[in-house]
Amino acid sequence: MPGLQKESIIDLLKGLVAIDSVNPSLSPAHAGEGEIAKHVADVLLEMGLQVDMQEVARERSNVIGRLKGKRPGRRLLMVAHMDTVGIDSMTVPPFDPVIIGNRLYGRGASDTKAGLAAAIAVTEELKRKKTTFNGELIIAATVDEEFEAAGIEALVKEVGADAAIVLEPVGMMAIIAHKGFAWMEFEVIGLAAHGSDSKKGIDAIMRTGRLLDELDSVSKRLSKTVHPVLGSPSLHASQITGGEGWSTYPASCTLRVERRTLPGETKKSIERESQVIVDKLANLGIEVRTKMHFFRTATEISSKERIVKSLRSSADGLGMELPVTGMAAWPEAGPLNLAGIPSVVFGPKGCTGHEADEYVEIDSVVQCAHILHGTVLDFLK
Ligand SMILES: [Zn+2]
Repeated sequence: MPGLQKESIIDLLKGLVAIDSVNPSLSPAHAGEGEIAKHVADVLLEMGLQVDMQEVARERSNVIGRLKGKRPGRRLLMVAHMDTVGIDSMTVPPFDPVIIGNRLYGRGASDTKAGLAAAIAVTEELKRKKTTFNGELIIAATVDEEFEAAGIEALVKEVGADAAIVLEPVGMMAIIAHKGFAWMEFEVIGLAAHGSDSKKGIDAIMRTGRLLDELDSVSKRLSKTVHPVLGSPSLHASQITGGEGWSTYPASCTLRVERRTLPGETKKSIERESQVIVDKLANLGIEVRTKMHFFRTATEISSKERIVKSLRSSADGLGMELPVTGMAAWPEAGPLNLAGIPSVVFGPKGCTGHEADEYVEIDSVVQCAHILHGTVLDFLK
């Protein structure tokens, strides 16, 4: 398996795409990451790496490979997730990788099997050529990124590092910040009554209109805050349910709201924001209950972090300029940063897994591997 050659990277990637690793929490008909984890572990073992399986859930294990340098030194972690989103909307074969021009199509091709293939290729190159570096290079393939990110949450409890590169298809950019999100639920309380009984009935759905007004003002206020690379925080109403039938006053109406956050906004601050709305409506005689279902923190690191410098200088050396910016979606950098491992998100160009016909641009995967190789040597020198 000759390291950074285009053909061998494509072979690696095809091997990964050919294994169905749709996240079973998203599509229960699929088996999950068991088979791909075994495949990745076998490849790393064959190279002569120390490999550990970290069981996160039944038959769902992170794979952790370690390559030690000559002398003690910094530890660098490369992370890619193995799970993918579902395949329902695809018009190309999901697990039978097809190359058309510079594109390799298949589920997971870009998100994030390409990054995983590049990281494996880099590790293989270093190992086979007995390249001198210090410290430790750790390659981690995680489970469950596309659902609850249980893989990365477990990984940070077990693996320490001085920096991490999270391999996601971010179009050959260095991502130093990303937004977080909160899933909020509001239940507006009414009083059930026959449709003819307007004296008794309290219409929860009609009252939800007031709640929506309040949320709209919050949304407008949020749009005035602008982060240098992430833009504005936001919220949107995602789902609404309520009512029993034509002739009944609805006793309850439930509104689900997603709030996208900036670094510095916390679970507490978002809960407080919701409580202010609830209190305001209470003053108008409208009873609303609120609860947070899920929270993922936004995060950022300084563009002066050593890992960002290593990544950029490696790209520079190859004649490529990496823009340093932020992203709105939520990659695995959040838990890593929280665990004190400064993390940059980097990876190839492609059409991500969340769109129907996922592909990755082959040339960018090869470039990605070369940039990673230089980054590892710079960071672990
Ligand atoms: Zn991803």
